[in-house]
Amino acid sequence: MQTKLKEALHQKGFRVTPQRQIILELMMNLDGRHLTADEVYSLARERTDDISLATIYRTLELFVEMNLLRRFDSGDGVFRYEIDTSQSEHYHHHLICLECGKIIEFNDDLLDELESRIAEKGFEIADHCLRFFGYCQDCKKKKR
Ligand SMILES: [Zn+2]
Ligand SMILES: [Zn+2]
Ligand SMILES: [Zn+2]
Repeated sequence: MQTKLKEALHQKGFRVTPQRQIILELMMNLDGRHLTADEVYSLARERTDDISLATIYRTLELFVEMNLLRRFDSGDGVFRYEIDTSQSEHYHHHLICLECGKIIEFNDDLLDELESRIAEKGFEIADHCLRFFGYCQDCKKKKR
């Protein structure tokens, strides 16, 4: 990943700065979490004082453009970022709990039929971003 980052940055004429390296390292160790720019900022501040929120925003957007990171809106209007480690060519789906805000990943695409129907209409699908809103197992139990 480090090499991939350096290559990708280099190709576009960007340098591998310590800030960019810190942000990428953080994003590589998310364990399935989806972080907002603010959350990335407070984690990055634990590693260095020499980083601003503006740098975080710029760097995250740069990484999204470079296809190193994925970005999605979890429904509260705030973008969350993650590295998509699934091998699937399309973005995985997200199940978002309306009670506790937990974001669960759903890794099977399962949209083959829909995608081929859309393709029949002459539309070429590059990707999709699907969110399901509802209640996670824990909150479902508590509701009873
Ligand atoms: Zn798909
Ligand atoms: Zn929940
Ligand atoms: Zn995800």
